[in-house]
Amino acid sequence: MLKREEIFPVFRKTRYVVHVDLDAFFASVEVLLNPELKGKPVVVGGLPHERGVAATCSYEARKYGVHSGMPLRQCYKLCPQAVFVRGNYHLYQAFSEKFFRILREYTPDVEEASLDEAYLEFTRCRHLYPSFSETAREIKRRVEKDLGLSVSVGAASNKILAKLATKKAKPGGFFELQPGEEEEFLRELDISEIPGIGPKAQVMLRLLNVHKIADLWKLPLGTLRSLFGAPSDELYLLSRGIDCRLLEVEGKPESFSRETTFLQDIWDRELLLAHLAYLCDRLASALRREKLYARVVEVKLRYSDFKAVSRRRRLLLPVQETSRIYRVARESFLELWEGSRLALRLVGVKGSELVEARHLSLFEIYSEREERLSQALDRVREKYGFGSVLTVREKMLGEVYPEDRSRGFILKTASLTR
Ligand SMILES: [Mg+2]
Repeated sequence: MLKREEIFPVFRKTRYVVHVDLDAFFASVEVLLNPELKGKPVVVGGLPHERGVAATCSYEARKYGVHSGMPLRQCYKLCPQAVFVRGNYHLYQAFSEKFFRILREYTPDVEEASLDEAYLEFTRCRHLYPSFSETAREIKRRVEKDLGLSVSVGAASNKILAKLATKKAKPGGFFELQPGEEEEFLRELDISEIPGIGPKAQVMLRLLNVHKIADLWKLPLGTLRSLFGAPSDELYLLSRGIDCRLLEVEGKPESFSRETTFLQDIWDRELLLAHLAYLCDRLASALRREKLYARVVEVKLRYSDFKAVSRRRRLLLPVQETSRIYRVARESFLELWEGSRLALRLVGVKGSELVEARHLSLFEIYSEREERLSQALDRVREKYGFGSVLTVREKMLGEVYPEDRSRGFILKTASLTR
């Protein structure tokens, strides 16, 4: 077998990647703003009797076995004394923005992995920092001081090792993995620590008596391929701490799309249009958030036989408003679908060729009233969830799927940004 130095000599010797992760983020914000909660188990996501799952649990709550993603009722059973908070996404967003502003002061190479989690790389600005290690520690101190939140930091030669280092540092610590220590570090870790090994893969591997990462090293690549197919190669490398993925540093997005895959194929025209309206509304809301307008609106359909068709329309005036996007999308949809009237398994809408408002003289053309209405709508939805306000057409979805739109009929609704 090749030694890793022989495969990726450059990366290993020169990269310095730092992974920064706020500890129990939502819960920590709640504690910060309400010091009475300090030291108590806190569950953010809803009240004990409500549907839904915990978004974050404080470390005090985790001692009772509750964790994020667990249904609230179950959290309550395990830890009835916990303080349950609905949470305020808007507030967390504000903290998150401040968090990323601090990180960007140190390097432009920042990947936003989630609201409270980032990768930083110093490879491009090495001449600015005499010691990466000291800089990573300074960032940790800055975040703690300026935000008042606990943060864990891991540093290593690539993304996966940095992330695993953070995990070891949690909560509130700093851990730096030195070159040459990778093998010892990885050896005893559980296979579930490797991204890409989901619950199903874990079951398969455990049947083969593979529990630790060191066990995984013994499986030949051929065996992995026969088990998992194409993703095996990455798995093979990641499990050895070899990761040449670069940071996904955000530029301006190139497009936004929203699509829904149905659990059962749909051929009801009005229901399909209701779904389309909902997706247009979501798309418009994403565009408004980024203050962008789309020059191209594209509709995609997938028939029950998996054949996909799409139609894109380039507009004279870029659009951002729900009603305008829907008007264009509806027309394309009907052109595509009316001919066949076959059942669909997926409907999607995409906005691309994005332009910023300042490049347009739109405000003379578009009504200020609609603009104000949209802004008010966004504020309400930010606070109470997207489903809190729906248009008449979208409301039909609520009537068809009264219990919960995401169950029974819809397999998944995906947001894609490219
Ligand atoms: Mg976190």
